[in-house]
Amino acid sequence: MSKVASASSNEFSDFLKTDMRIRSATEAANVALWSYCPDTGENWASSTWFDILGYDHDVNALSLERWLDLIHEDDAQMAQRAFADLVDGKTDIYRADFRLRARDGSWRWIGASGTAVERADDRPAIVYGMAMDITERKKTEAKLAQTARTAERHRERLFRLAENSPAALFEFHMDREGTVSLPYMTTVAHALLGVAADDVAEDGLAVFKNIFEEDMAKMGPAIEESRAKLKPFKLRYRVHRADLESGYAWLQASSVPRREEDGGTLWFGSIYDVTTEVEREALLAHARDNMRHLALHDGLTGLPNRRRLDEHLKERSTQHSADRPPDVLMRIDLDRFKYVNDTLGHAAGDAVLCHVARVLSLSTGTDDLCSRVGGDEFCVLMGTGKSVEDARVTAAAIEERLGTPFFYEGKICRFGASFGIATSAQGSIVTGDLMSFADAALYEAKAAGRGRVEVFSRQLHDGILENRRLAAEIEGAIENRAFEPFFQPQVSAHSGDLVGAEVLARWRRADGSVVPPDKFMPVAEQIRAVPLIDRVVMERTVAIVDGWRSEGLMLPKLSFNVSAGRLHDKTLVAAVRDFLDWGVKVSFELLESILLEEEDGVARRTIELARDAGISIEIDDFGTGHASILGVLEVSPDVLKIDRRLTANVVETQQSRDLVASIFGIAKSLGIRTTAEGVETPMQADVLRQLGCDVFQGYLYAKPLAAADFFQWAGENGFSGAAPRNP
Ligand code: C2E
Ligand code: CA
Ligand code: CA
Repeated sequence: MSKVASASSNEFSDFLKTDMRIRSATEAANVALWSYCPDTGENWASSTWFDILGYDHDVNALSLERWLDLIHEDDAQMAQRAFADLVDGKTDIYRADFRLRARDGSWRWIGASGTAVERADDRPAIVYGMAMDITERKKTEAKLAQTARTAERHRERLFRLAENSPAALFEFHMDREGTVSLPYMTTVAHALLGVAADDVAEDGLAVFKNIFEEDMAKMGPAIEESRAKLKPFKLRYRVHRADLESGYAWLQASSVPRREEDGGTLWFGSIYDVTTEVEREALLAHARDNMRHLALHDGLTGLPNRRRLDEHLKERSTQHSADRPPDVLMRIDLDRFKYVNDTLGHAAGDAVLCHVARVLSLSTGTDDLCSRVGGDEFCVLMGTGKSVEDARVTAAAIEERLGTPFFYEGKICRFGASFGIATSAQGSIVTGDLMSFADAALYEAKAAGRGRVEVFSRQLHDGILENRRLAAEIEGAIENRAFEPFFQPQVSAHSGDLVGAEVLARWRRADGSVVPPDKFMPVAEQIRAVPLIDRVVMERTVAIVDGWRSEGLMLPKLSFNVSAGRLHDKTLVAAVRDFLDWGVKVSFELLESILLEEEDGVARRTIELARDAGISIEIDDFGTGHASILGVLEVSPDVLKIDRRLTANVVETQQSRDLVASIFGIAKSLGIRTTAEGVETPMQADVLRQLGCDVFQGYLYAKPLAAADFFQWAGENGFSGAAPRNP
């Protein structure tokens, strides 16, 4: 407490009130001056005081009691106690901030301070001081406090997020000299990187110590590039992790660099575990590769498939260049493969195919592309620059290896291979694609007796063109129903009576000429048109026989040649229903091969249906096929038709006679009747009759005849349609 013992209180107060310099200075600073005399209760305040609170400059308007009332109730006690302490001489200095209600009702913050002039009895003679409007400061302070609290909340929230994120967050710093440090890193980083927090605290470089060496080799340059170009940094790398079963984890670090004022660089980023992702990606990539492999390879042999070969051929053909060497393609088809399948089972067949695939791989060079393009069909696309001669050598090598007997479960598998070779060098003189050329050569090799190598030639090409033309004509002819039935009589070997007729197809061209089956059947077979021809012939026969009925000719029986394909036609039996209704017997002539090739049993079911309908089954061309007689007898035919190649020599050779005799013997013992085809001379007829043949068919009686000719022939030979005698 300042001791101003000499000055009387009132004098001091007066001095405050009147010293103009102090007054001006305080008013300019917006500071109010005040004084109070405890003894007298006299008080004074400078005009600024009234200004602050918005009152007139009148002490009475704002007496001490009055303004003490205006103190905010929360502040009143504190403010009054502090003032009382000063007035009571308990302190020398008075300081208080409190709110006062201004005249307009608003609260003003007042920062008040004061001191005392003391008397001898230690009680103040006068207290005086200053008061300032600190409302704005208080507001600013409150705002700052609020901002600080918000900032703290944000910081806390971010910290919690950062610490609880599975990704590690970090700041990585590198100064101009290349010294690195880690100003910030979340705790999870230690676990991810497999390092102890203490180690990192000691030396920031510890975060790199578990990284795989080869990945670390990428890390340095990646950081440097990011630093130099200020490009985001992103890298996947592996770290050794003793805590994991695999011993390592895949991490991905991503960060964004920022250049500091001092030339250093600071990255902000994250590190997270991408092991599952990397593994899944690897799995997907593997699956993709696998699928691509499956799509382009044959599942059984593992060889590239047809699609792969086509892709390869396409690739080659796009490399268009005048001096590009021609491509050489070899097609390989197994002979008698079906026989292996049929007799030894499909597992044996599969083993043969795998064996052939191995042989192909062994017999070809690494630049040759071997593929399996069909059931028992393979291809070798010779390496670039190889010649037809090279292909022949390869074919010979394959043949030689295939010559070594192959056993499956102790049983020998007998099969061979035919080869067709074509080269795109021919592409300059003929049109078409390599595959069909090689195919044509293969077809030729097969037709010429199997186990052969055939090279595509000009003649072959012409043959193909001719066949194509013919195929188109056949299709047209089917549409125009230009195929018509011819009839060849069948007579009883004993009575010479007409017992029936075989229906044989002829193609009647627009000019009236007649084309025999051997001119169109092979091509019709290739384009699978035979069943369609059979159907046309059968339908037209219905109309013809209906006509004969009205003319009084009643045939005892009709034989139709039924192709394998036709046996898959559900309407087959219905198509001959009319004959049966008219009392004309019907038989189907089937080739031995049909019964052997039949795999799905549909043909056998159709045969059963036919039999149920009263249709008899005849085995055509018997004695020439490869089938065992037992196999044929399984369908228990009604008739065996002895092929004309067998009947041809019965007069001349004993051997022929013996063979035919034994067939007749077996047939008779099984109750099967026999028909001999190709009977041309009375001598043949005599021998065959003696051997036990039942029915004859051949030029000796008549050639196949057109409907009108047959009608005439029947009349001339005294056949009127009387009920047939049993042969
Ligand atoms: P295939 O069924 O063996 O018919 C008998 C063939 O022998 C007929 O030839 C016939 O003209 C001929 N031929 C008959 N008698 C004699 C003879 O004494 N001496 C000689 N050298 N030949 C004789 P075609 O009519 O040319 O028929 C040939 C083959 O065409 C038939 O042989 C048959 O396999 C097939 N074919 C004919 N027509 C049809 C048909 O409508 N459908 C089916 N799927 N095949 C048919
Ligand atoms: Ca026949
Ligand atoms: Ca025949």
